[in-house]
Amino acid sequence: MQFHLNGFKAGDPDINSQPATKKNSISDSPLPQEVDVLIVGCGPAGLTLAAQLSAFKDIRTCIVDVKPGPLEKGQADGIACRTVEMFNAFGFAEKILREAYWVNETTFWKPDPNQPENIIRGGQIYDTEEGLSEFPHLILNQARVHDYYLQLMRNSPSHIEPFYSRRFKDLKIQATNQAKPLEARVVARFERANPELTGQIETVRAKFLVGCDGARSEVRKSIGRNLVGDSANQAWGVMDVLATTDFPDIRMKSLIQSAEQGSILIIPREGGYLVRIYVEMDKLGESERVTQQGLKVSDLIERANRVFHPYHLEVKDVVWWSVYEIGQRLTDKFDDVIQSQNTTRTPCVFIAGDACHTHSPKAGQGMNVSMGDAFNLGWKLAAVVRGLSPTSLLTTYSEERQAVAQRLIDFDREWSKIISSKPKFNADVKTDGYDPAKFQEYFVQSGRFTAGTAIEYSSSPLTKVNVNQHLAKGLRIGMRFHSSPVIRLSDGKPLHLGHVVLADGRWRIFAFAGQSDNGKIGHYSPIRSLCDFLQSSNQSPVRRYTNLNSDIDSVIDFRVIFQQSHRSLEISEMPNFLLPSKGKFGLTDYEKIFCPDLHNQVDIFDTRQIDRALGCMVIVRPDQYISAILKLDDFLGLRDFFEPLLIQQNKVI
Ligand code: FAD
Repeated sequence: MQFHLNGFKAGDPDINSQPATKKNSISDSPLPQEVDVLIVGCGPAGLTLAAQLSAFKDIRTCIVDVKPGPLEKGQADGIACRTVEMFNAFGFAEKILREAYWVNETTFWKPDPNQPENIIRGGQIYDTEEGLSEFPHLILNQARVHDYYLQLMRNSPSHIEPFYSRRFKDLKIQATNQAKPLEARVVARFERANPELTGQIETVRAKFLVGCDGARSEVRKSIGRNLVGDSANQAWGVMDVLATTDFPDIRMKSLIQSAEQGSILIIPREGGYLVRIYVEMDKLGESERVTQQGLKVSDLIERANRVFHPYHLEVKDVVWWSVYEIGQRLTDKFDDVIQSQNTTRTPCVFIAGDACHTHSPKAGQGMNVSMGDAFNLGWKLAAVVRGLSPTSLLTTYSEERQAVAQRLIDFDREWSKIISSKPKFNADVKTDGYDPAKFQEYFVQSGRFTAGTAIEYSSSPLTKVNVNQHLAKGLRIGMRFHSSPVIRLSDGKPLHLGHVVLADGRWRIFAFAGQSDNGKIGHYSPIRSLCDFLQSSNQSPVRRYTNLNSDIDSVIDFRVIFQQSHRSLEISEMPNFLLPSKGKFGLTDYEKIFCPDLHNQVDIFDTRQIDRALGCMVIVRPDQYISAILKLDDFLGLRDFFEPLLIQQNKVI
């Protein structure tokens, strides 16, 4: 779709006539006195968390921001492939795919060895390696990502709307009552930020409070944690502009390194005309801040034109611009439990996103990793609040995400150094500087990282690393479930298996059948034996952890993938457990059984290297990461896996 042709318009490009809503009526009502989860900050982290919690009608969630209304423009814009996978779980990937710019290829520009004051194209590559994800890397204004979340929350079972114009002031944590671990112990105070109500204080009690309040987080400070790190003393400018130019790659993501004038990163934007330009500015002095330089947007445009030489950029309209300095900072822990309390209590205050880590924007990670934090925390909080999991599950949030942030910061430091280093004009000449070919090489190597698919959780009760990995070599334990196409048996629909993992807080077990297993009664069928165990045994995790009044797949969703073509299997011969009766009418769910897409020669058993003779079970967490791989007959292993993670719901089964 094309838009912004005659000027930038905030809001949904499908709505052409109406201005974006600034005011939200709920902000006029007082904050609730008590909630289950209180979220401070409506940035990408806070909204991802609120969207996840909004799926549960039985959770009272409140989200608050100091701003008067939703973001309209600016800030981050890069959406990694892994994040699109997450959006798919939330159900709005298709809409975003339609609206966003797709980063298919990247070009590299370097000084012309014969005329170093000019730039020339040095290379052109695919932005991500083939098969890394079924989704591309996208570019879309952060404000539009917010809009999709807000819409989802508004349309969700719990109808969540943010409360704006409230500034978080402070919090107190009341003593733990061991008998009531889920008591609302956090007492937070907010100050009204709209001029007519300034100074008015509101108090909210919550079971859990999550600070998603950005790099200057007051929540972080209130739990005594600091962002620690350094600044590279390098100023950068960023501007979203509508411009004309003779530079040929203005609609390609392009990394330009000039000989003497610094670097530029071009990020074409949604709508076909808008473009973001990151411009390297001067080095900052020791302890100098970028704000002290008094930079204007005209300085950014002028510097950009110097880098572009011999090409020209004529800026017609500046939609948004900002200057910043590169700095990588991280907190040591993402929750309120100090070391001496590790064995005596579990956390009730958390921080997520920029509140715990900041990095340079050019690697496009800030928004993505912030949303990743919240997706990790969201299902865990939901499970605990709903009484499905013990509070000990919450300790895994900081353990998992702090390590991810540390790896990201290491990568970001290296990438920022390379992008700001002076290029050699000619790789053969022995001069200082970075070889542009190496620059391109590093970009390719780090592709998985920037795509967000390199995240790998280490060994914990949630992640059984290195056990049975040989049964599914292409589904790495600790990493996200890498989807692959399949055919649904009941209706022959081609779809991606990973797309059945929705952001609904459920665990998934994917059982890949061995070669001759056809599920039929009277035949050798480990799948049928597993179904019988799950359906009837008192050791079955499905029976133990699912309330008798709930649908049988409401906590653990079991799916099977056979090796045969969908036309050679008979749905009526499948085990009953694969055709569960659900809802108040006891209707049959026909969507649990899949086969390889043999017609298109995409066999998931090949793409994900599943052991064809033995098959296996793959346990996937509610946030799409692989927890464990088990043999198909390891019934007790399956029981033991869930034991520390879920709370038994039925005393007698
Ligand atoms: P934020 O998006 O910062 O959201 C925090 C929210 O908390 C805000 O809405 C804020 O109003 C609210 N808040 C703060 N304090 C309080 C309080 N006391 N009480 C109530 N509410 C509060 N990343 C890129 O990848 N590329 C870029 O070009 C880029 N440019 C940026 C430009 C700017 C000016 C900024 C600020 C950030 C930029 N980033 C960029 C970073 C990226 O936007 C962040 O990494 C991402 O937004 C982090 O999400 P978050 O939800 O953790 O925090």
